[in-house]
Amino acid sequence: MTLHAELHRHLGGSVVPRVLWRYFDRHNAEMVNRFQEYSEFEEFYTRPRNTLNEYLELHTLVESVQTVETLPYFIYRLMRGAYVFENLAYLELRYTPYLRTPEHLEQSERIDLMAEIVQVVGKASQISDCPIVTSQILCMHSRLPYEVNRAIVDLAAGMREYVCAIDIAGGDDCIGERLEEFVGLYQYARSIGIKTTGHLYETTSGCYPELLPYLMRIGHGIQIPLKYPELLPEVARRGQCLEVCPTTYLKTGTLQDMRQLKVVFDRCFEAGVDIAICTDNAGLHNVRLPFEYENLLTLDIIDFRQLQACQNAAFRHAFAWPYGEQPAQMLNGLLQHESVGALVN
Ligand SMILES: [Zn+2]
Repeated sequence: MTLHAELHRHLGGSVVPRVLWRYFDRHNAEMVNRFQEYSEFEEFYTRPRNTLNEYLELHTLVESVQTVETLPYFIYRLMRGAYVFENLAYLELRYTPYLRTPEHLEQSERIDLMAEIVQVVGKASQISDCPIVTSQILCMHSRLPYEVNRAIVDLAAGMREYVCAIDIAGGDDCIGERLEEFVGLYQYARSIGIKTTGHLYETTSGCYPELLPYLMRIGHGIQIPLKYPELLPEVARRGQCLEVCPTTYLKTGTLQDMRQLKVVFDRCFEAGVDIAICTDNAGLHNVRLPFEYENLLTLDIIDFRQLQACQNAAFRHAFAWPYGEQPAQMLNGLLQHESVGALVN
């Protein structure tokens, strides 16, 4: 069996449509009444959008119901699904903690409540019958003020038992207007030993070479091999890994056909740039991680050897995988040891 590492999954987009529907059914009659039946809701929730910004709007729907009280409910279902149906051994869950605090409060009060959210998410994701190693990535947000983003970096520094890294999310086109600010925040994060990834080079309007040197991994980054392949040797030299989330690009209108990803994989393999295959928003897409792998294989975008290279890269670039070995090696030792024991007996 293969156990997977998932490096790029949003807490907001990780709720599968049926779990969200059940939640609305119990707690939000107004929402349920907008749809005739479940299938209509599922169609609305999972259908492709025209742009990344339109797609990100959907996150606000889930963010609004993920509060300090309800997060354990959603996270328990997420972990259970990830363990039973996805064979995850490792999961980095990312979100903007500020957006889980009550909207009506003052900014400073919301900032103060972020630590509680991180703790609730951390505790809720440790489930004894779903043994998955988990950690959190806190997302700065391209549309939130500097003070909030700075507080998010400080929170990551102060809660290392739950948090392994920071990210920048929220749409890549508006990063450019405040580029220096975000460069400064990443510099600050690195200076205090925080690990980093960032949603960059996802769409053609999100390409900022100025930020690249500060990232340890690149969230998506597909526009580098597609449009700026001359940057690949530098990316390889820095040991940066691309977090490629195949289904996303069809849902956001970034690509028209998944086969366009073949160039991404070919050029990265050639340049020695690692790729981790991820889901981004497994719930919103209704696509689980093993299927992302299988799909790439079926469409001849990667071959089996490349598939295994990506699986290994995911563990190698995991920010908080605590073992020197990958699960396959650990299980091999265990199972072989046991089978020898059985022979002796
Ligand atoms: Zn993402």
